[in-house]
Amino acid sequence: MIPITVVDVSDAEPYVLEVLRSGVIAQGPMVKRFEDTFAEIAGVDHAIAVNNGTTALVAAIQALDLQPGDEVVTSPFTFIATLNAILEAGATARFADIREDDFCVDPEAMAAAITPRTKVLMPVHLYGQTADMGKIAPLAEEHGLALVEDSAQAHGAKFDGKGAGSFGLGCFSFYATKNITTGEGGIITTNDAEIADKLRVMRNQGMRARYEYVMAGHNYRLTDLAAAVAIPQLAKIDEITAKRKANAAKLNEGLAGITGLRTPSELPGRSHVWHQYTVLIGDDAALTRDEFAAKLTERGIGNGIYYPKLVTDYDAYRGHAQVVMSETPVAAKIAQQCLSIPVHAHLTDDQLDTVIGTIREVLGA
Ligand SMILES: *Cc1c(COP(=O)(O)O)cnc(C)c1O
Repeated sequence: MIPITVVDVSDAEPYVLEVLRSGVIAQGPMVKRFEDTFAEIAGVDHAIAVNNGTTALVAAIQALDLQPGDEVVTSPFTFIATLNAILEAGATARFADIREDDFCVDPEAMAAAITPRTKVLMPVHLYGQTADMGKIAPLAEEHGLALVEDSAQAHGAKFDGKGAGSFGLGCFSFYATKNITTGEGGIITTNDAEIADKLRVMRNQGMRARYEYVMAGHNYRLTDLAAAVAIPQLAKIDEITAKRKANAAKLNEGLAGITGLRTPSELPGRSHVWHQYTVLIGDDAALTRDEFAAKLTERGIGNGIYYPKLVTDYDAYRGHAQVVMSETPVAAKIAQQCLSIPVHAHLTDDQLDTVIGTIREVLGA
C-alpha cells in the first residue's frame, strides 16, 4: 500500500529527551523556541502556541470580542473544525461559495455574503494553497472586518511572497497528519502586539502575573514535550515543501490529458505547499469518483476524500441558531468530485510512477 500520509518524527528524539531530562514538560522554553521559529516561517512578529488547531481558531475569534449574533463568513468546503470553532466562540457562521481553481472561498461570493452583522472574514487555505488574499485582505480592510486565516493545512504557503497567516490572525494545526506535526498542537500568528499579548494571557487562565487574573481565560497551553517534536521538522520545512512541490509537478505531468480527470494547480503568485494533491473526477471520466477511489484502494494506492460533504450538510448543524445556510453550488459539486492521492515527502520515484501508471490504467487513458 502506498499511504496517503506518512508521519515522520524520526529526528525528534534528542529534543524530546532534552525536555524529559529538563523536568520542564509543560509549557516552557521549547514552546518559546517553537513559537519563535514558526513566527519566522510565517513572516510575522508574534506566534502563540496552543494545544491544537481548533483551539487556535477559537482563541483567535475570542480575541476579537464578538457579540452574540456577530457573523463570520467562511468556506463550507473545509474540515469541520472551521465551523465548530466559530460556534464555540459564540459567533454565527455564514458561508460563501468557493472557486474551482483553488478550492478556496471566492472573494466575490464573500463580498456578497457580508451583512451589517459581519465582523470576521475567515478564508481557509485548503490543501496547502492560500485563498485569493490579494482580494480578500482589501475586502476586509474596506469593510473594517477582522481577518482570521484557517491556515491549518498551509504551513509556509505564500501569496505574493507573504506568508499564510500573516494577513490577519493565522491559525495553524500541528495534528499528526499535517505538513508539520507535534502530534496535537496549534499556533496563532499575528503582527498585532496587543492581540498577541491578549492571546498569551487568555491561553494561561487569564493570568498576567502569578495569581493576577485580568480576564476569564482558559488552559490552551501546548506542552514542551509536544513542541520538541516539531523543532527538527521546522528546521527542514523548506526541504519538506520542496519535495511535496516536486511530487505534485510529477503527478501533474504524468496525469495530464486523461479524459474526465482534472489535476490541481499552483496559481500565479502563490506558493502551494501541497498538504493534499486533489484531483476532480468529472462526469466524462471512465469511472465515478467513488468507483475510482475503490479501484485505487484495491490496487494499493492510498486515497482520501477531503471532504465528502459540506460542513453544512450534517443534521447537527441544520436549524442551528448560529448557522446561516446558503446555496454554494460550486462547493457542492466539488465535494462530489474530489479525491486526494499521495503527495507526501516520503514518496519514492517508483511509487510516483506506480500511482501515475495505476491511475492511467484504471481510467483507461
Ligand atoms: C486540521 C484542521 C483544523 C483543526 O486542527 P486540529 O489541530 O485538528 O484541531 C482546522 N481547519 C482545517 C482546515 C484543518 O485541516
